[in-house]
Amino acid sequence: MKTVLVTGGSRGIGKAICERFSSAGYRVIAPTRNEMDLADAASVESYIARNLNEQIDVIINNAGINDVHLVEEITDDEISRTMAINLTSPLRLLRGFVGGMKQRGYGRIVNIASIWAVVSKAGRCTYSATKNGIHGITNTLAVELAPNGILVNTVCPGFTLTELTYQNNSKEQIAEISKEIPLGRMAEPAEIAELVYFLGSEQNTYITGQKITADGGFTEK
Ligand code: NAP
Repeated sequence: MKTVLVTGGSRGIGKAICERFSSAGYRVIAPTRNEMDLADAASVESYIARNLNEQIDVIINNAGINDVHLVEEITDDEISRTMAINLTSPLRLLRGFVGGMKQRGYGRIVNIASIWAVVSKAGRCTYSATKNGIHGITNTLAVELAPNGILVNTVCPGFTLTELTYQNNSKEQIAEISKEIPLGRMAEPAEIAELVYFLGSEQNTYITGQKITADGGFTEK
């Protein structure tokens, strides 16, 4: 049985990812924020140290935050929290657990970015910086870890119906945005999870280093 580590598995896209892997027979490890606070480097390093003996075959770096502010309004706290949760903690987790994958000659890594790593929108400066950064990690590790049987990809979800979307958009805005999406609606978390599952599963044998967008056609317009 293979084991998948999913961050941000308590709700939204992460919860759907946990359910998808679980239904395929994977053992799912989804640490709560109490077990590992991604905003806190010491908490992440302590989680890694406590779990180094776990056989982690798949890592899904899913947890993320998106504070929307125009550039002059961005606070130091927003910069450091967003960088930590969206970018540096995912890198710490990969640094911590990739050794076991290399020893076993097998691994799958899926990093969750966003359409705001493909196109842009006002107020997304910090968020987009981290999501573009996460793909830099994917690029490098795809090359670095290919000889070890480890495949690394980025999924860029479009608008998805989760708390994050309800937090940043009113009901009216959600209806307006949906009109701009060629498929005419936002994604359900399970639709994103299906793609993440494929890339993170044994079914994926040849896709690595890719940034794959699932957005109902939004970025094609
Ligand atoms: P969400 O519903 O807001 O859930 C965020 C998850 O991240 C929760 O499980 C949350 O845990 C966890 N998290 C936040 N801060 C944390 C911290 N300091 N330590 C540990 N865990 C933390 O988010 P979502 O919409 O499912 O988004 C998931 C991913 O998809 C994110 O990377 C997001 O940027 C990306 N994405 C989402 C959309 C969208 O439209 N929803 C679009 C593009 C990309 P708690 O339960 O403890 O808060």
